[in-house]
Amino acid sequence: MDVPLRPPLREDHVGAIIVAAGASTRLPGEVPKPFLPLGGRWVLERALAAFEATASIERVVVVVGAAYVAPARARLRGKVGAVVAGGPDRRDSVAAGLEALPDAGWVVVHDGARPFVTPALIDRVLEAARRTGAATAGLPVADTLKEVTGDRIRRTVDRSTLWAVQTPQAFRGEVLREAHRRIGRSQPVTDDAELVERLGAEVVVVPGDPGNLKITTPQDLELARWLVEASALRVGVGYDAHRLVPDRPLVLGGVTIPHPRGLAGHSDGDALAHAIADALLGAAGQRDIGAHFPPDDPTYRGADSLHLLAEVARRLRAEGWSVVNVDAVVQAESPRLSPFAATMQERLAAALGVQPDRVAVKATTGEGLGPIGREEGIAAQAVALLQKDR
Ligand code: MG
Repeated sequence: MDVPLRPPLREDHVGAIIVAAGASTRLPGEVPKPFLPLGGRWVLERALAAFEATASIERVVVVVGAAYVAPARARLRGKVGAVVAGGPDRRDSVAAGLEALPDAGWVVVHDGARPFVTPALIDRVLEAARRTGAATAGLPVADTLKEVTGDRIRRTVDRSTLWAVQTPQAFRGEVLREAHRRIGRSQPVTDDAELVERLGAEVVVVPGDPGNLKITTPQDLELARWLVEASALRVGVGYDAHRLVPDRPLVLGGVTIPHPRGLAGHSDGDALAHAIADALLGAAGQRDIGAHFPPDDPTYRGADSLHLLAEVARRLRAEGWSVVNVDAVVQAESPRLSPFAATMQERLAAALGVQPDRVAVKATTGEGLGPIGREEGIAAQAVALLQKDR
């Protein structure tokens, strides 16, 4: 009698297969969908991150096209126990993944072109599978459905019993293995649930997630990029005011402006640069410029505030933030600042490492009102928008 080569099944062991081996026939270009960049990461890596964050998942097998085995092995870490080459169709790819999960009591299959899957959805499907043996995520069809031949509607389809099925799908490992072994290839199957259905086993559907988008067309990719970008935006506000005193140069936005008085301060007193730095730090959820560059630290005596601003930008970049734009307004009764605004924008942008069109500087007077109007000081306000790159 043959001794099985397969290690003993571990009943509680949950493995996942992320299928990313398909050719992207509906998207132009040579890069398959799971390897397209989406906010600094592969589409596939975003899906993988959800599995990494799901405590019940122990091991992930990623199935890719043969040409992507080496780059995926070099880049994917964490729970990824194996990167294996897929086959000619999806079914072969899942089978290749199953071979790399020989002892998994439970298997979750997910499409590598669905980057927005969440740990909550993975757990929801897995819990349903634990009760019944097999489960998939899906959503009731909301659109009216028509049967069409050519451009002619034949009939309206009753949608009350129709669901659009997603992944993840979860199975008792033995059920999925048996389905792959026993169901013949006479008819193509579109997902693993169908293989198990054909076995005559029950598959339940649990509510999926409308955000669990499958990237199929260029429009899907555009929407996915928009979603990633929008979810990574943070806004911050900054305000600063300094007193005008004699015998000091007037420095605003890194530009020295001819004026009989300048702004008092431990540094060069550049209230505009300080307001922008506070807006940037605020957007990143950090404390203000005083916490980063303490005023009682002699290092910053007479400091060029543009250097401080450049250092703030450097620290934020190191944490994955990039500056989308900055908008600022300086309030000064005199001198007239608008002739210097363009130079201020250029210098501030250079300090931030962005193009000048990402920084706007406007000037207004105090209309004679209050301390600014009485020329006792100059104030600046700024808003900054940051984007998290990863
Ligand atoms: Mg200040």
